[in-house]
Amino acid sequence: MSKFHHATRLNMHAFAQEGVALIETIPLQNMERLAQEANALAPDLMLNWEARAELRPGSGPEEDIWLHLVASASVPLTCQRCMGTVATPLAVNQWYRFVATEAIAMAEDDESEEDLLVMEPHFDLLALLEDELLMALPLVPMHGECPVAPVMQVGEDALAGEKNEIGEEIPSGEKPNPFAVLAQLKKKSQ
Ligand SMILES: [Zn+2]
Repeated sequence: MSKFHHATRLNMHAFAQEGVALIETIPLQNMERLAQEANALAPDLMLNWEARAELRPGSGPEEDIWLHLVASASVPLTCQRCMGTVATPLAVNQWYRFVATEAIAMAEDDESEEDLLVMEPHFDLLALLEDELLMALPLVPMHGECPVAPVMQVGEDALAGEKNEIGEEIPSGEKPNPFAVLAQLKKKSQ
Protein backbone atom coordinates (compact mmCIF):
# COMPACT_ATOMS: atom_id res chain seq x y z
CA MET A 1 0.00 0.00 0.00
CA SER A 2 2.86 2.36 0.73
CA LYS A 3 3.48 2.94 -2.99
CA PHE A 4 0.32 5.08 -2.94
CA HIS A 5 1.73 7.24 -0.20
CA HIS A 6 4.58 9.62 -0.72
CA ALA A 7 6.05 10.61 2.61
CA THR A 8 6.57 14.25 1.61
CA ARG A 9 3.03 14.67 0.25
CA LEU A 10 0.94 12.51 2.50
CA ASN A 11 -2.85 12.57 2.41
CA MET A 12 -3.27 12.27 6.17
CA HIS A 13 -6.97 11.44 6.07
CA ALA A 14 -6.50 8.50 3.69
CA PHE A 15 -3.44 7.40 5.63
CA ALA A 16 -5.36 7.47 8.92
CA GLN A 17 -8.37 5.67 7.42
CA GLU A 18 -6.14 2.82 6.26
CA GLY A 19 -4.36 2.70 9.61
CA VAL A 20 -1.47 0.76 8.09
CA ALA A 21 1.98 1.72 9.26
CA LEU A 22 4.49 3.25 6.89
CA ILE A 23 7.87 1.75 7.69
CA GLU A 24 10.83 3.12 5.79
CA THR A 25 14.58 3.47 5.78
CA ILE A 26 16.12 6.56 4.22
CA PRO A 27 19.68 7.83 3.90
CA LEU A 28 20.40 10.51 6.50
CA GLN A 29 22.14 12.46 3.75
CA ASN A 30 18.69 13.26 2.35
CA MET A 31 18.04 15.47 5.36
CA GLU A 32 19.94 18.62 4.47
CA ARG A 33 19.46 20.54 7.70
CA LEU A 34 20.46 17.57 9.82
CA ALA A 35 23.45 16.86 7.55
CA GLN A 36 24.67 20.42 8.23
CA GLU A 37 24.79 19.70 11.96
CA ALA A 38 26.76 16.51 11.48
CA ASN A 39 30.31 15.79 10.46
CA ALA A 40 30.26 14.70 6.83
CA LEU A 41 27.58 12.06 6.91
CA ALA A 42 28.72 8.75 5.50
CA PRO A 43 26.55 7.82 2.51
CA ASP A 44 25.57 4.58 4.17
CA LEU A 45 24.17 6.17 7.33
CA MET A 46 20.52 5.26 7.38
CA LEU A 47 17.53 6.40 9.35
CA ASN A 48 14.78 3.96 10.27
CA TRP A 49 11.39 5.46 10.81
CA GLU A 50 7.84 4.32 11.22
CA ALA A 51 4.60 6.29 11.07
CA ARG A 52 1.04 5.24 11.71
CA ALA A 53 -2.10 7.33 11.80
CA GLU A 54 -5.56 6.69 13.14
CA LEU A 55 -8.95 8.35 13.43
CA ARG A 56 -10.29 9.04 16.90
CA PRO A 57 -13.54 10.65 18.03
CA GLY A 58 -12.90 14.36 18.60
CA SER A 59 -14.73 17.31 20.05
CA GLY A 60 -16.21 18.28 16.68
CA PRO A 61 -18.49 16.40 14.26
CA GLU A 62 -15.51 14.92 12.41
CA GLU A 63 -13.01 12.46 13.78
CA ASP A 64 -9.56 13.69 14.70
CA ILE A 65 -6.49 12.45 12.91
CA TRP A 66 -3.72 11.23 15.20
CA LEU A 67 -0.22 10.41 14.05
CA HIS A 68 2.45 8.39 15.80
CA LEU A 69 6.03 8.83 14.66
CA VAL A 70 8.98 6.70 15.76
CA ALA A 71 12.52 7.01 14.48
CA SER A 72 16.06 6.29 15.53
CA ALA A 73 19.44 7.13 14.10
CA SER A 74 23.04 7.58 15.11
CA VAL A 75 24.44 10.92 13.95
CA PRO A 76 28.15 11.82 13.98
CA LEU A 77 28.47 15.15 15.82
CA THR A 78 31.52 17.11 16.95
CA CYS A 79 32.45 16.51 20.58
CA GLN A 80 32.76 19.90 22.26
CA ARG A 81 35.49 18.66 24.61
CA CYS A 82 37.97 16.92 22.28
CA MET A 83 36.56 18.11 18.90
CA GLY A 84 36.53 14.49 17.72
CA THR A 85 33.49 12.79 16.22
CA VAL A 86 30.97 11.41 18.64
CA ALA A 87 28.27 9.06 17.37
CA THR A 88 25.13 10.46 18.96
CA PRO A 89 21.98 8.37 19.12
CA LEU A 90 18.82 10.32 18.33
CA ALA A 91 15.36 8.99 18.98
CA VAL A 92 11.87 10.24 18.19
CA ASN A 93 8.73 8.76 19.67
CA GLN A 94 5.86 11.21 19.54
CA TRP A 95 2.09 11.45 19.12
CA TYR A 96 0.53 14.30 17.15
CA ARG A 97 -3.03 15.43 16.64
CA PHE A 98 -4.06 17.39 13.57
CA VAL A 99 -6.20 20.50 13.97
CA ALA A 100 -7.83 22.71 11.35
CA THR A 101 -6.04 25.99 11.98
CA GLU A 102 -2.99 27.58 13.58
CA ALA A 103 -5.32 29.46 15.95
CA ILE A 104 -6.77 26.21 17.30
CA ALA A 105 -3.28 24.76 17.64
CA MET A 106 -2.18 27.81 19.67
CA ALA A 107 -5.29 27.72 21.85
CA GLU A 108 -5.16 24.01 22.65
CA ASP A 109 -1.41 23.53 22.83
CA ASP A 110 -0.99 24.11 26.56
CA GLU A 111 -3.63 21.60 27.61
CA SER A 112 -2.53 18.88 25.17
CA GLU A 113 0.05 16.23 25.94
CA GLU A 114 0.33 15.38 22.25
CA ASP A 115 1.87 17.85 19.80
CA LEU A 116 -0.58 19.69 17.59
CA LEU A 117 -0.11 20.04 13.86
CA VAL A 118 -2.11 22.11 11.40
CA MET A 119 -3.85 20.03 8.75
CA GLU A 120 -2.49 20.34 5.22
CA PRO A 121 -3.78 18.67 2.05
CA HIS A 122 -0.35 17.17 1.43
CA PHE A 123 1.52 16.74 4.65
CA ASP A 124 5.32 16.59 4.58
CA LEU A 125 6.09 13.80 7.02
CA LEU A 126 9.82 13.84 6.30
CA ALA A 127 10.08 17.56 7.16
CA LEU A 128 8.36 16.84 10.49
CA LEU A 129 10.74 13.95 11.08
CA GLU A 130 13.75 16.16 10.39
CA ASP A 131 12.39 18.88 12.71
CA GLU A 132 12.06 16.31 15.48
CA LEU A 133 15.58 14.96 14.94
CA LEU A 134 17.00 18.50 15.00
CA MET A 135 15.20 19.15 18.30
CA ALA A 136 16.56 15.87 19.68
CA LEU A 137 20.15 16.99 19.06
CA PRO A 138 22.08 17.55 22.29
CA LEU A 139 22.93 21.21 23.00
CA VAL A 140 26.52 20.25 23.69
CA PRO A 141 27.50 17.00 21.98
CA MET A 142 30.15 15.23 24.01
CA HIS A 143 31.77 11.83 24.47
CA GLY A 144 30.99 10.13 27.77
CA GLU A 145 34.72 9.57 27.86
CA CYS A 146 36.86 11.20 25.20
CA PRO A 147 39.25 8.90 23.33
CA VAL A 148 41.98 11.53 23.81
CA ALA A 149 42.34 13.18 27.20
CA PRO A 150 41.13 16.77 26.92
CA VAL A 151 43.36 19.64 27.93
CA MET A 152 41.95 20.76 31.27
CA GLN A 153 42.64 24.01 32.95
CA VAL A 154 43.65 23.39 36.50
CA GLY A 155 41.65 25.50 38.89
CA GLU A 156 37.99 25.94 38.17
CA ASP A 157 37.62 22.52 36.58
CA ALA A 158 39.24 20.80 39.53
CA LEU A 159 36.75 22.38 41.90
CA ALA A 160 33.66 21.87 39.75
CA GLY A 161 31.77 18.60 39.93
CA GLU A 162 31.09 16.52 36.88
CA LYS A 163 28.42 18.00 34.69
CA ASN A 164 25.90 16.28 32.48
CA GLU A 165 24.81 17.38 28.99
CA ILE A 166 22.60 20.20 30.20
CA GLY A 167 25.15 21.53 32.60
CA GLU A 168 23.67 20.20 35.80
CA GLU A 169 26.04 18.82 38.36
CA ILE A 170 25.97 15.07 38.68
CA PRO A 171 25.79 14.15 42.35
CA SER A 172 28.82 12.11 43.28
CA GLY A 173 29.49 10.15 46.43
CA GLU A 174 33.14 11.00 46.21
CA LYS A 175 32.59 14.71 45.85
CA PRO A 176 34.73 16.44 48.43
CA ASN A 177 33.14 18.57 51.09
CA PRO A 178 33.36 22.15 49.75
CA PHE A 179 34.64 23.42 53.11
CA ALA A 180 37.39 20.81 53.11
CA VAL A 181 38.36 21.97 49.61
CA LEU A 182 38.46 25.58 50.81
CA ALA A 183 40.62 24.59 53.75
CA GLN A 184 43.01 22.83 51.37
CA LEU A 185 43.20 25.92 49.19
CA LYS A 186 43.87 28.13 52.18
CA LYS A 187 46.70 25.83 53.26
CA LYS A 188 48.20 25.96 49.77
CA SER A 189 48.07 29.73 49.63
CA GLN A 190 49.74 30.15 52.97
ZN1 LIG B 1 35.32 13.93 23.03
